[in-house]
Amino acid sequence: MLANKDPASPITVALIGNPNTGKSTLFNSLAGVRQHVGNYPGATVEKKIGQFAIAGQTFDLVDLPGTYSLAPRSPDEMVTVDALLGRLAEEPEPDVVVCVLDASRLEQNLYLFSQVLELGRPTVLVLNKMDLAQAQGTSVDVAGLSRRLGVPVVAMQAHRKIGLETLRQTIQQAVEQPARGRESPFPEAFRREVADLQAALEPTANERLPRYLIERLLLDSGGWLEQAGLPGLDDEVMQQVRQARTRLAEAGYPVPAVETMARYDWAARTLDGLLKTSENQSTSGGDRLDGILMHRFWGAIIFALLMTLVFQAIFTGAEPLMEGIEDSIGWLGERLDHVVPEGVLRSLLQDGVLAGVGAVLVFLPQILILFLFIAMLEDCGYMARAAYLMDRLMSRIGLSGKSFIPLLSSFACAIPGIMATRVIEDRRDRLTTMLIAPLMTCGARLPVYTLLIAAFIPSRRLLGGWIGLQGLTLLGLYVLGLVVAVVAAFILKRTLLRGETPPFVMELPPYKWPSPGTIVRRVSENGWSFLRGAGTLIVIVSVLVWAAAYFPRDPAVEAEVRAAYAPQIEALQQRAAELAQNDERPPAADPAAWAQLEQEQTELKATISRHVAGAYMEHSYLARAGHWIAPAVEPLGWDWRIGCAVIASFPAREVVVSTLGVIYHLGEGQDEKSDSLRETLRAATWPGTDRRVFNIPVALSLMVFFALCAQCAATLAIMRHETGSWRWPLLTFTYMTVLAYAGAWLTYQIGMQF
Ligand code: GDP
Repeated sequence: MLANKDPASPITVALIGNPNTGKSTLFNSLAGVRQHVGNYPGATVEKKIGQFAIAGQTFDLVDLPGTYSLAPRSPDEMVTVDALLGRLAEEPEPDVVVCVLDASRLEQNLYLFSQVLELGRPTVLVLNKMDLAQAQGTSVDVAGLSRRLGVPVVAMQAHRKIGLETLRQTIQQAVEQPARGRESPFPEAFRREVADLQAALEPTANERLPRYLIERLLLDSGGWLEQAGLPGLDDEVMQQVRQARTRLAEAGYPVPAVETMARYDWAARTLDGLLKTSENQSTSGGDRLDGILMHRFWGAIIFALLMTLVFQAIFTGAEPLMEGIEDSIGWLGERLDHVVPEGVLRSLLQDGVLAGVGAVLVFLPQILILFLFIAMLEDCGYMARAAYLMDRLMSRIGLSGKSFIPLLSSFACAIPGIMATRVIEDRRDRLTTMLIAPLMTCGARLPVYTLLIAAFIPSRRLLGGWIGLQGLTLLGLYVLGLVVAVVAAFILKRTLLRGETPPFVMELPPYKWPSPGTIVRRVSENGWSFLRGAGTLIVIVSVLVWAAAYFPRDPAVEAEVRAAYAPQIEALQQRAAELAQNDERPPAADPAAWAQLEQEQTELKATISRHVAGAYMEHSYLARAGHWIAPAVEPLGWDWRIGCAVIASFPAREVVVSTLGVIYHLGEGQDEKSDSLRETLRAATWPGTDRRVFNIPVALSLMVFFALCAQCAATLAIMRHETGSWRWPLLTFTYMTVLAYAGAWLTYQIGMQF
């Protein structure tokens, strides 16, 4: 395979290993800045590729996701296996596989390595974290291990770059390693069944399936590979597979347990005599810490305190940064006033592009802060303990402890929350968590709630002044999101995402000081991943909504508004003329009158431009859409203008506030604190009547709608990015919109009974 490789073409090196073995540290040391990230087509799996060169030869380093086993149970895991087997159409076959093992957990880590060995590719074993093994009093006979396995073994401390040069040379030499079939760790009876199956598959499949995949097929009692459509799997072959499983079970090798037995047995035999453990181990420090941090009472208290800190930091710590970003965007927008002439281009840049860029950047502080905490807690070893603590609580709704932090952070913002689900290995759990994360009450809902509550909920005190009705309403909205999320998770885990929950296995890594390099790397990777994954889409959506609200720009609309104000304009002009007549050199004679006049002129100008903006909006495509959906939103108590504002707030919920401002003729620049917006909303009437648009049930129904809907382009975009398909964001949007509509309808209908 390698002899005929063109010397000019790069050599592909695949990097694989258990999570937390130091694989990423190694990747970065090898590749430096020459790396980029992409996605495998149709999968969530991120494809990280780096490059390095040795003696003029280029090496492409492919980082595969950390995993405990190469047993595919999902499309993502299949991508990893296919990449290693060289079965991906557009991807080069790996010439060398580098498998990173944690020397302090060698026996467990050998499980994955035994699977990698079976693939039959030139392989290099990296024995990382040698310092940790040593600190635990374990010494490994590296040369002996290499001889026994028949592959080069490199002892390393990746975080200190110790052994890096040796690894480079070893990779270069490994390319020349003769390809040879590896001995299977499975018992004879199992190997015979595999050989028989391979023979049976040969004539039907148009591709020769590697032995490894046939073993997987036999072991895959969950039936995943069968569904995934391996070539040549007809009913007859599957029948044969089932019979083989029965025969193996009768022979005392039940599937899939035979794999665990065989591989651990192999690992024990491999290490026999090569590991030396000294007696004076000092791990008691970690044990004592565990005694407190994992204590049912103290552990829970410490966890609650930590989470409060994290939540506060995301919620309030990000605030100044977010304001800073908003101010900068606002400042840039103002600069545009001087640079670009008034018209469609300026509007596009200000209200479309800049607004979109702002909507993306404004999330960045929360994302960075959350990941700073997650990276620190993870790297010092606490995260695994926290997941363990929360597991009992979360298991009541069918999720594991690992879903807790993603969901908690979604109370600040669903976007970092959804990104934080990456720690959940189980695919169904991860999807369920992502699908319910947007139901948590995020910060973007607050402006909507604040405006409507302040305008329509009476500020009455209840329970002898202990709580106010307004606060209670806000609390109710939080609880509503939470309760619906619990029910949704419950249902999802029993229908669409049903499946046996894998037992909660999580390694408890040793405690250590977090390493700044690792933290900076993880935080920046996540920030970048968000900008790359969601950024462009948000800007596009923002421009589209801007266009819908801007066009068709018929000048007659503006002319009509100005004509309506003609008498006022004329009156002011007349007054100016009169004042000027009385006084040759204004404003010397009557400064007060001139000042008064000037002020009235400014006010009139502002009023006219507000009405022009409102009139344009009323004639826009967006308004047509609002009119079009009016019959659908009428049962919710909404007029077409509310419908319009709800459509316009698709990119981001909080946009509803400013849109309500424009559409009820207030002009832009309204925020939830402006009194006039509150007043105008209270005074607004249904067209042609004096019936008020807003009352308490309407305000409540609008708030319930925003509590349950998925109106946030950034959330949907990041969900697409994380799942690799539009299916999940579409499903989320649909189910949440249906819920939101039903909730708003119920609220309004019940509210009107009182
Ligand atoms: P990955 O999950 O396999 O990608 O692991 P990372 O590269 O993120 O490393 C996990 C942790 O192990 C980080 O805190 C690293 O700083 C640390 N680490 C990496 N290599 C070594 C090593 O040789 N010795 C020790 N003690 N820690 C290491």
